[in-house]
Amino acid sequence: MISVLEQPIPFGGGIELPPHKAVSLAQPLVKADLPDVIKLPLCQHSGLSALPLVHVGEHVLKGQLIAQAQGSINAPVHASTSGTIKEITDHATPNPSGATSPCIVIETDRQDTWLADRNPIEDFYSLTPVDIQQKILEAGVVGLGGAGFPSSVKIKSQSNLNIELLILNAAECEPYISCDESLIRHHVRDIIIGMDILAHALQVDNCVIAIEDNKLDTINILQEALHSHAGTDIKLKLIPSRYPAGGEKQLIKSITGIEVSAEGLPIDVGIVCYNIGTAFAVKKAVLDDEPLISRVLTITGPGINKPCNLEVLIGTSMHELIAQCGGYNDQFEYLIMGGPMMGFRLHDDHVPVIKTTNCLLAAGAEIHASTNQPSPCIRCDECAPVCPVNLQPQQLHWHSKQHNTERLLDYHLFDCIECGCCSYVCPSHISLVDEYRQAKSLIWDSRRKQLEADKNKQRYQNKLQRELQQKLDKVKERTMRDENNVDAVSTAKNKKAEIMAAVNRVKAKRKARDS
Ligand code: SF4
Ligand code: SF4
Repeated sequence: MISVLEQPIPFGGGIELPPHKAVSLAQPLVKADLPDVIKLPLCQHSGLSALPLVHVGEHVLKGQLIAQAQGSINAPVHASTSGTIKEITDHATPNPSGATSPCIVIETDRQDTWLADRNPIEDFYSLTPVDIQQKILEAGVVGLGGAGFPSSVKIKSQSNLNIELLILNAAECEPYISCDESLIRHHVRDIIIGMDILAHALQVDNCVIAIEDNKLDTINILQEALHSHAGTDIKLKLIPSRYPAGGEKQLIKSITGIEVSAEGLPIDVGIVCYNIGTAFAVKKAVLDDEPLISRVLTITGPGINKPCNLEVLIGTSMHELIAQCGGYNDQFEYLIMGGPMMGFRLHDDHVPVIKTTNCLLAAGAEIHASTNQPSPCIRCDECAPVCPVNLQPQQLHWHSKQHNTERLLDYHLFDCIECGCCSYVCPSHISLVDEYRQAKSLIWDSRRKQLEADKNKQRYQNKLQRELQQKLDKVKERTMRDENNVDAVSTAKNKKAEIMAAVNRVKAKRKARDS
């Protein structure tokens, strides 16, 4: 049985950062305006793209399934409002490279009409874990705190494993981002019901909500809600507010003392973690029969006029949301999707909000280390003690510059969680985390190319093998035909000889008779 520690322990490394959350939390959580156009990328998370089920000109309703999941790690896409399919084509989507990808574009009818045949329920205990997993899968729920791993997969995996602990991660540790805290403040009961549903689906009764100890108002709200909660026994654990306390493995280490290996998953040690927003989406999917078509998003930063949290339809243009928040001010330099530590700079704000968009940060000059001019590494070693996964960032920096894949792998490049702590403390302002991301993507590219080359080689060898086999088959066929011909000739010769012998016998008889 996994026990939760009375006193959380430090996870090692990390840094203390100013929260910068109060300004966005000061505003009530409201719904964003209904947009004229919704752009829904077919791939908004880890895994394969979904397959469109609609055609241009078709009218769709809010919540309607418009693209079907394919593959085992994938999520379907639903219309976030009612309207007409305008096009299905490539558009710019939020990603670090600015690349385009296929999207379904809906011209909204501004009626926001739901599908008529939704089927809300009240008692989720009447559902089996498999039913719940199916509902979460069909609703397109993905992890809303990270890379967007489809949430149903974690429940599916529990059939082979013994899950002992369910953690709801409320440690929103990156500065500026406050969407989870805002969600707790406005929808705490729905979040706790979502956790009850997940606990039932995973058949777990050891449940913890973990939150940083400096979020006093939100802690009070959680305590009050849990005090009057009659469902699963859920404990509240306060962890030190040290970035990246909300990293899944760091959180598990803090509250249980268990280390999840770099290549392992929490599920390998009997633990499942979900984000606050995901629990909320699970409640809506299972009880209200609502697919994941909206999310809460923080719009903040020194470069925005009215920081706040908004409930936004997936597919809404970021540009429109910025306008609803009073637009950019004169401090604005560029827009980041995510926080200042792990987020990435957007090339354009006319891209849609996707399921994993938790924050739009209108950055001023001071936010990213990368805006300072970098100077050479002075080997001060400031970066090593802050690394939460015990890497040697300085070594990774040297080998990234040299493109030395072998040494990068020796120094465990792929264990890097891209938290940005090393970049943050580097006095030379080297964008270390950007270098590691680039190095990882180069290595992935070369592995993909190698894999492709191996496949091509194998395909060529298979082709040669097939051709050789065809030649052998032909030779065999010809030989058999020749043998058959030889047999036929010899049979014909024998027959001819027999006939000749018979003729000769008749002739001999006649001669004997005539004489
Ligand atoms: S903190 Fe920066 S300058 Fe110092 S060793 Fe690390 S990479 Fe080099
Ligand atoms: S970005 Fe990577 S190397 Fe740098 S501190 Fe974080 S985990 Fe360590």
